Amino acid sequence: MPTVLTHAAPALTLGLALGAKVIPPRLLVAGVALSMAPDLDSIGFFMGVPYESLWGHRGISHSTAAMALAAAAGLALGPWLRAGRMVSAFFLFLAVASHVVLDAATSGGLGPAALWPFEDGRHFLSWRPIRVAPMSPSAMFSDWGRAVVFSELKWVWLPFTAISLLILFFRKALTRNNRRVVRFRRLAP
Ligand SMILES: [Zn+2]
Repeated sequence: MPTVLTHAAPALTLGLALGAKVIPPRLLVAGVALSMAPDLDSIGFFMGVPYESLWGHRGISHSTAAMALAAAAGLALGPWLRAGRMVSAFFLFLAVASHVVLDAATSGGLGPAALWPFEDGRHFLSWRPIRVAPMSPSAMFSDWGRAVVFSELKWVWLPFTAISLLILFFRKALTRNNRRVVRFRRLAP
């Protein structure tokens, strides 16, 4: 897995870039939480659940079913999250999907059971540039840990920050343009 904080990067950066009108704070917090939540299955890893089991690390919590569950929660809780039901469903779906895709782009471990319940296989992307993080937190304070942090900055934080800044730039440009149109209409006879 990438480290748990890095799993929050897509939801956090894209949510902030889209702004509070589209992704209100409650929805943003829910998205960030759900983008990290699949790795709660690591608890099972330390309790002896086999990695390759569907209930093991990167099993059903990293699946199409988990994404669908997140979307259903978004549909149900949209008003409480202060957002439209469809927006909530889509954002929470993306939060879990981003977790699965990032795990599938790591260099080690088993791939996520991304297609469960349609099939049980573990899947990786054909391109896996992200260094896999150690399961033991103490191992992060080593050369391996440093390589993981560098890899995550390069392949996750940097691209998502860049995409978010682009979205922010276009949002500001669009707002400026809309203000100009309103001003022009007011001036028109
Ligand atoms: Zn994971």
